[in-house]
Amino acid sequence: MRPLSRAAILAVGSELLTPFRTDTNSLHITAQLNRLGVDVMFKSVVGDDRDELLHAVRAALDRVDLLVCCGGLGPTDDDVTRDVVAKALGRDVREDLGMTERIRARYVARGFAMPMPEINRRQAMVPTGARVIENRYGSAPGLWLEEGDRVVLLLPGPPGELGPMLAAVVDSLLMERVSGTAIVRRSIKMTGRIESRTEEQLRPLYTEWSSAAVPVSATILAALGQIELHLSARGPAAAASEAALSAAVRQVVAVLGGDVFSTEGHELERVLGDLLVARALRIAVAESCTGGLIASRLTDVPGSSRYLERGVVAYSNEAKTELLGVNADIIAEHGAVSEPVALAMANGIRSRARVDVGVGVTGIAGPDGGTPEKPVGTVVVAAATADWSRSRVFHFAGDRAQVKFQASQAALDMVRRMLS
Ligand code: ATP
Repeated sequence: MRPLSRAAILAVGSELLTPFRTDTNSLHITAQLNRLGVDVMFKSVVGDDRDELLHAVRAALDRVDLLVCCGGLGPTDDDVTRDVVAKALGRDVREDLGMTERIRARYVARGFAMPMPEINRRQAMVPTGARVIENRYGSAPGLWLEEGDRVVLLLPGPPGELGPMLAAVVDSLLMERVSGTAIVRRSIKMTGRIESRTEEQLRPLYTEWSSAAVPVSATILAALGQIELHLSARGPAAAASEAALSAAVRQVVAVLGGDVFSTEGHELERVLGDLLVARALRIAVAESCTGGLIASRLTDVPGSSRYLERGVVAYSNEAKTELLGVNADIIAEHGAVSEPVALAMANGIRSRARVDVGVGVTGIAGPDGGTPEKPVGTVVVAAATADWSRSRVFHFAGDRAQVKFQASQAALDMVRRMLS
């Protein structure tokens, strides 16, 4: 039988099409399939609608050899996955009486005062030829259906039920049907670069990797204030894939140097936190236009109390003078958005908080407040230690939130580079 290599995922549930629920199951399923060397070619979210689901199942089965559906296996009328998949495969659905009894027994064991409602028998309906997969954490069993070389796997929606069931299927039924390759992924993050130039510099590596014994493929993504390079390697086993990926990561770092801040997909605030811990340094931040975002990002990292001493939001000129000791004459002479003021903020917070590193940020987030000399998006970032200080003027594009985020990114990055 041909090994399974191309998969699609259908997350079923009308609640997943509202703004209030996110399909997280498919991320978990993708990670598990990738470990087995199965690529996810596409995925969709479909409501509890028979016609839409039938269309999606048929379309998927035309394109892939493994279809994983999650959700819609419950006992109520809107749980349609089982019936629709049976219809797409031309199978009858019959009640598995043994399973009805197991569901009934489970119901009794959970101590409900009344007998199992008859609608729960729907969960014991099994398409002809399907293998039933036990659900140890809920009532809806999973189903495994084979049609020629293709497989359809139905899993329950609740993540706490899907996770253990998928793990069991990966170790048994799926393991037997894959080629034995393993895909591993790594995300490399960098700052201070433009996407096109980065791509140009990395292209020779892409060519080399594509014809290697364990091929590595790359996707470059520009995000706000950073660029991400996603690498994946497919080898005969996880160890071979990991080895190829690690070698590729080293090559990327050799080309891009200090612009790379993480080879493990970590956020900049975490990377900086690790550096501060490693050097036993403490930091304090003085923020104007970022309004506390830098402190907020630093405190997103567990354990940040080890290195973040304080953050001050000094928005008005008076606050900069009162809270940070910025000389009012400097503000009058250079303007609040200027390198001397940002440096005075960084030095001021550093000495008042008695820490090793001080950061000062001032700028114009917009949409108002720009001038011809200092348009919206002008941000000055400064960092200072006892024997080192630096300031830099940035011109960021984007709306208010985007300017604030990029300013916070520039500040965290300035300190990261200083400590690297
Ligand atoms: P059960 O009968 O045990 O509820 P089910 O297969 O019918 O199983 P659903 O009713 O579709 O599952 O979903 C139950 C809950 O599981 C949803 O309310 C939602 O919280 C969660 N869930 C469903 N699908 C997903 C998904 N793709 N990602 C994350 N959570 C999900």
